Amino acid sequence: MKILIVEDEQKTGDYLKQGLSEAGFVADLARDGIDGLHLALTDDYDLVVLDVMLPKLDGWQVLREIRHQGKQLPVLFLTARDQVEDRVKGLEFGADDYLVKPFAFSELLARVRALLRRGRASGEPELLQIADLELDLLRRRVTRAGKRIDLTAKEFALLELLLRRQGEVLPRSLIASQVWDMNFDSDTNVIEVAVRRLRAKIDDSFEPKLIRTVRGMGYVLEIPAPA
Ligand code: CA
Repeated sequence: MKILIVEDEQKTGDYLKQGLSEAGFVADLARDGIDGLHLALTDDYDLVVLDVMLPKLDGWQVLREIRHQGKQLPVLFLTARDQVEDRVKGLEFGADDYLVKPFAFSELLARVRALLRRGRASGEPELLQIADLELDLLRRRVTRAGKRIDLTAKEFALLELLLRRQGEVLPRSLIASQVWDMNFDSDTNVIEVAVRRLRAKIDDSFEPKLIRTVRGMGYVLEIPAPA
């Protein structure tokens, strides 16, 4: 799942990006309101963490514009001010939740998960599944045949992508942009290495094997057809 952070304080922004990445999310960071709004409108995010006091456009304006453009994604406001009127204003403008600085990262993570859960009341499942492999999006847990499997944040994001698009051959370039959030040249073997590690965890001791390499194309996650 992809989260946009809009925060101008360098330390807080870096800290949030790192923390959310370690929790298994793909996190982008914008450092002012204009960049933040641009990303929110042009990219596909599941949630925005939005600071109120921002250069160029403040958080209120960013939020108003996001809603004005019909984007319904959940927005968690960050503010240094703990004024009742600010909360009311934020909620009137269509913020989904509010967190007052300074806050513990664990609290932010709990709010983020709660908002994502609420956001998917409208139909998207919390559990992605193929054969006996299950990925719980909110608890960030993976099991196969009922056994808990520990994945790194990148392995988790990779498996999530493969599960969401199961049956589709995913080119390396697409995996690079969705999981590593960058384009890298085709010489690097970052993806091969990550797929190998993921396979060792989810396929090596189990049947059937679910990840298939399509030579020259990419990877696909599927239940193999009977021989
Ligand atoms: Ca700020």
